[in-house]
Amino acid sequence: MVDILPEDTPLWQSMETAALEVLSSYGYAEIRLPIIEPTELFARSIGEVTDIVEKEMYSFADRNDDSMTLRPEGTAGCVRAVVQHNLAVTPQRLWYTGPMFRYERPQKGRQRQFHQLGVESFGVATPDQDAELIALSRQLWRRLGVDDALQLEINSIGSASDRARYREALVGYLGEHRESLDEDSQRRLETNPLRILDSKSPGTQAVLDSAPVLSDYLDAETQAEFGELLSQLDALDIGYVVNPRLVRGLDYYNKTVFEWTTDRLGAQSTVCGGGRYDTLVSTFGGKETPAAGFAVGLERLILLMQALDITVSSPADLYVVTADENAYRHSLPRLDALRRQFPDLDVVQHLGGGSFKSQFKRADKSGAAWALVYGDAEVANNQVTLKPLRAEAEQQTIADAELELFLAGYLAAAQTA
Ligand code: ATP
Ligand code: MG
Repeated sequence: MVDILPEDTPLWQSMETAALEVLSSYGYAEIRLPIIEPTELFARSIGEVTDIVEKEMYSFADRNDDSMTLRPEGTAGCVRAVVQHNLAVTPQRLWYTGPMFRYERPQKGRQRQFHQLGVESFGVATPDQDAELIALSRQLWRRLGVDDALQLEINSIGSASDRARYREALVGYLGEHRESLDEDSQRRLETNPLRILDSKSPGTQAVLDSAPVLSDYLDAETQAEFGELLSQLDALDIGYVVNPRLVRGLDYYNKTVFEWTTDRLGAQSTVCGGGRYDTLVSTFGGKETPAAGFAVGLERLILLMQALDITVSSPADLYVVTADENAYRHSLPRLDALRRQFPDLDVVQHLGGGSFKSQFKRADKSGAAWALVYGDAEVANNQVTLKPLRAEAEQQTIADAELELFLAGYLAAAQTA
């Protein structure tokens, strides 16, 4: 579990603000979901024979001995809510964000508590929905300045019957190479052979290099839909690589699957993954509803922004220095009025007293643009001194009444900068 420290939260906040703007601009509405759900919900949707359900879930018995789980991903809970509140009656565009939990080996880009932004859409079966989701994600990358570092990988994994036919061919091939497969994959040969395609073992991946490919087993309708999606991506000028081995690690997907990957983060290279899941709503007792979505790994997105030297800092505008207790009291109602009048202005008041010298040291360290100084003379004359701490500007002493004008000008200049 990782703390996100104050030095990093400005970058997180700017990413969250950008995401909210992009999502709203496409008409997606936020849904807020519980962090804990019954274990059964994840086992049924993600699949019993997957890495997540077999070995990564934080599950516990609650006081009533019901097995509960800290959510390892968001789609299952979102679909549960959509069914429970009957939200799938019209096309429904949703998003959520928050912590997810997986018991994995912690390393760069892999944590036990991490955060995802999830985007889900219900009710549209045609590939325009898939294209919109991908276009939306690309818009977010652009807004954050990471689009050049991300590559779209895409595939179609077909319908359940396509996969059943493929499964037979795959099991036939892999059965002949059983001894070269990793332990998990040997076991999954019987229980869930498609999961083997998602294996991270180099030995298994080598065997898979010559395995039959799923795309040869897709029916004509799925192939046409996939072709239509690709042509819409062309119209959007979104580059992609069709990766016939891409299957994703969760069982609920069908037809389109995609990932945004980067070569800037080493082994943990997938920043975003998603696809279509047309049978999940009915699995949870809802009426059959096509659906598609994706999840962004926010820690990896932050790592990518940092790798690209994208920084955000938000030092204060003013650091307030006062000569003594009398000057401090004099400043209080004035600062109160300033904050009310300029909600965007960041005003940090020096607390705890001390000499001018020590206060100015703190002012400098704070990174604020200006020191706002109330000395004895300023108090006596209803004036204030502005001392530049960062800007190339003159120190000036002005009447209290002129401060308003100065700050209005300062904020306007800061906005255009
Ligand atoms: P990986 O193959 O890296 O294990 P995954 O297929 O398990 O990823 P998904 O379940 O598709 O991941 O989750 C979507 C995104 O969430 C991933 O692409 C990644 O960016 C992020 N993610 C997944 N697991 C973690 C984790 N343990 N720590 C940080 N980010 C994660
Ligand atoms: Mg994983």
